[in-house]
Amino acid sequence: MLVLVINCGSSSVKYDLIDTEHQKGYCRGLVERIGAVTSIVKHQPENGKNTKETKVIQNHTEALKEILSYLLGPDSKVISSVSDIKAVGHRVVHGSDMFKDSVLIDDDVKEAIEQAFDLAPLHNPPNLKGIEAAMAALPDIPHVAVFDTAFHHSLPPKAYLYGIPNRLYRRYKIRKYGFHGTSHYFVSRQYFKLILDKPSKTKVISCHLGNGASIAAIEGGKSVDTSMGFTPLSGMVMGTRSGDIDPSILFYLVEKEELPLSNLHALLNRHSGLLGLSGFAADMRDLILEAENGDRRCQQAIDVFTYKIRQYIGSYMATMNGCDAIIFTAGIGENSALIRQKAVENMEFLGVKLDEDRNEAAKPGEITRISQDDSRVAVYVIPTNEELVIAIDAAKIAQASDQSPWI
Ligand code: ADP
Repeated sequence: MLVLVINCGSSSVKYDLIDTEHQKGYCRGLVERIGAVTSIVKHQPENGKNTKETKVIQNHTEALKEILSYLLGPDSKVISSVSDIKAVGHRVVHGSDMFKDSVLIDDDVKEAIEQAFDLAPLHNPPNLKGIEAAMAALPDIPHVAVFDTAFHHSLPPKAYLYGIPNRLYRRYKIRKYGFHGTSHYFVSRQYFKLILDKPSKTKVISCHLGNGASIAAIEGGKSVDTSMGFTPLSGMVMGTRSGDIDPSILFYLVEKEELPLSNLHALLNRHSGLLGLSGFAADMRDLILEAENGDRRCQQAIDVFTYKIRQYIGSYMATMNGCDAIIFTAGIGENSALIRQKAVENMEFLGVKLDEDRNEAAKPGEITRISQDDSRVAVYVIPTNEELVIAIDAAKIAQASDQSPWI
């Protein structure tokens, strides 16, 4: 089934057209800087030439039109009719406690996504904009929401409850939700396929290290703990997000600098993390380069980042009583041998023995074992594919729905 996967940010729409039967991408692309004076439109067809143009794209609806007109266009000929697309899969970041699985989108689902705006203010509003735009552009096919939080629904209360009055959990649903669920799910399944074993006994620590970063403890195939929490702001230090900090810092700052809430929000979400620590960049490639040139603060940012990874690995090994495999994925996890090495070096005590040559030789896009043969804990680089998970879920739900073109 041909599924269009859509991932909307506040000023961007990313898409992937995926044939779920053959698990093959036909075309992917990105419309960036939506609403700016000029927007950038990129398309990467599987069998064709990559294109990059600047255009005026005012909103998400225009971005969707642009994408469909490219897919149908005489130059690309990716599809011959919009009816070739049988379903749309939407990435939705926060499903709160309402969605433990992907769902067919209707008015109630849209309302529930809106109710979770407060919980993921950077993500859920543009996700819903994308849903509205795509439903208007493709009204006759099923649209499915796939939630980043869903995989973490298996967390036990001891992992998801915070040490605050229980009535706040009951009244406002304040608890840990966890994110990057589709990625942690995908890479852990890839690992199970590799070892040809049922997940029932296996313990895995999955490190999704991109601009956003989270680490998950997966036992028996189920997420049992993860570093992100009530929102995607907590846990690991990220590109521009602070990750965990002592909450008293906020009271202190409000007093010292008389900052309004909106500034605190921006401070922790957009000006902190690797960017804040280095005072230079959020992008790990830039930080590594500058650190090699002797920049002390860039080096410190890298040290904090890798120290946090080690802390989570150690803590999840303790709470799961061991670990069979550590997986690195996403932009940094898949591409940076340096970060992987710093994250797991000198962990022999915990049964982790990195093979430096294998780590250096790992190629982008390939599954690679980077631990030594006699390492008690296997260490892998496994490329993530969140879009494929979304497409497969959307296809399954579309086929089962009475909106399906087959029924
Ligand atoms: P997201 O999807 O969260 O926006 P990605 O998974 O694409 O992020 O990861 C982006 C991060 O990956 C950036 O910090 C980027 O610098 C980093 N990255 C990509 N390639 C490399 C590389 N070769 N070495 C180090 N970091 C890299």
